[in-house]
Amino acid sequence: MGHIEEVFEQVKRRDHDQPEFHQAVWEVLESLAPVLELHPEYREYRVLERLVEPERMLIFRVPWTDDQGRVQVNRGMRVEFNSAIGPYKGGLRFHPSVNLSIIKFLGFEQVFKNALTTRPIGGGKGGSDFDPKGKSDNEVMHFCQSFMTELFRHIGANIDVPAGDIGVGGREIGYLFGQYKRLTRRWEGVLTGKGYGWGGSLIRPEATGYGQVYFLREMLKARGEKIAGKSCTISGSGNVAQFCAEKAISYGGKVLTMSDSGGFVHDPDGIDEEKLAWVMELKNTRRGRISEYTKKFKSASYHAGKRPWSVKCDIALPCATQNEIEKAGAKALVKGGTIAVCEGANMPTTPEAVEIFKAAEIAFGPAKAANAGGVAVSALEMAQNAYFSEWSREEVDSRLDTIMTGIHAQCDAAAEKYGHAGDLLVGANVSGFLKVANAMLDQGVV
Ligand code: NDP
Repeated sequence: MGHIEEVFEQVKRRDHDQPEFHQAVWEVLESLAPVLELHPEYREYRVLERLVEPERMLIFRVPWTDDQGRVQVNRGMRVEFNSAIGPYKGGLRFHPSVNLSIIKFLGFEQVFKNALTTRPIGGGKGGSDFDPKGKSDNEVMHFCQSFMTELFRHIGANIDVPAGDIGVGGREIGYLFGQYKRLTRRWEGVLTGKGYGWGGSLIRPEATGYGQVYFLREMLKARGEKIAGKSCTISGSGNVAQFCAEKAISYGGKVLTMSDSGGFVHDPDGIDEEKLAWVMELKNTRRGRISEYTKKFKSASYHAGKRPWSVKCDIALPCATQNEIEKAGAKALVKGGTIAVCEGANMPTTPEAVEIFKAAEIAFGPAKAANAGGVAVSALEMAQNAYFSEWSREEVDSRLDTIMTGIHAQCDAAAEKYGHAGDLLVGANVSGFLKVANAMLDQGVV
């Protein structure tokens, strides 16, 4: 058995019940063979073994009282995965499906993603099995306050800086920040994704989706193509999906679909700026379901319980959740003539589906590179907080564009150097790994 397989077997032995974590680890490990061959020091100093083991995992009880006065109990967690290149950084996810496997997969991915941004940020992730759906603002606030009442002692502007993810947007970050400040008496950049006017950065809400489309633009450019005139299917209708759609439309793309966990809407006329503004109001203010779109826009159809990959498109942009493009979805996309898939969500494509895209020579933008714009602008928010300063919209957007263009170039170069020209997944894994692994070697056995 080779070194990589040995490390993977140990991961599976130690945590046999964590399939999402295994999937994320294997996706990285299998890319690293050519790097390990050239650099025996990584093996000698057990860099892989250390990388797959989080530095720290915190699991805690979150008790709170609902509007009827009943006591509710959720589980909170924070996985501080790797701090070799900076304070732990990564979002919080509030969703009933949250468990340690999901948080560890997200934290592991985050380590490499953050390295790719070239900012000094390590990797972490956290969350809870709390479901904000159907809860009043008051209940969400009570939950967030209780969650922070344990988390505050583990985080800090130079220690661990959480942000949003599924189920955690501006409202939740506000409640979490308020409680942190109350408990510590410190106003510091301990969370990112804060509201504009109290430490938030302009463009942070837009950053993941915008960054994804900047990355897509670079991928297409490398193949002599552009976004203008291309049809796009998007999954999700949350933060990432909304701003991915906005930027794709601004580049002249035609957005055909959006979805939520209930199903997807298909609008053959295209979801234009005006329709997207309606979706944003539906999702961010009224907190309604995407199915309502068809009542407002008669050109559209709703497909309950389905994902949008059966709709013929040039470009697929998964922006909802992990493993949402499986084998059948990938085959349908290839059959429909898709030329590019660019991931906004984390690990939305299963390994089998990635193989199908590779075999069909479809341009593939892996999440840890393509969706790094969110955390990159979070790092810019930290920088602004540290300097008590505020940059303009144009300044942040232009930095985001430069970072995303740089990430694409980095991945492309690493893929070429290690014998996988054009394979951005290998390029992202290798490039992120090298930066973290070298920092770990420099810092000794810790
Ligand atoms: P939101 O909560 O804002 O939106 C999530 C969207 O995905 C909603 O439309 C939701 O539908 C849908 N969704 C969630 N779970 C499922 C599911 N199991 N099946 C089908 N649809 C589902 O989250 P974000 O937009 O912030 O995050 C989306 C993805 O992007 C996640 O993978 C996240 O990790 C990743 N990401 C987010 C970043 C950010 O800056 N926010 C940064 C980098 C990555 P419903 O409302 O019905 O639940």
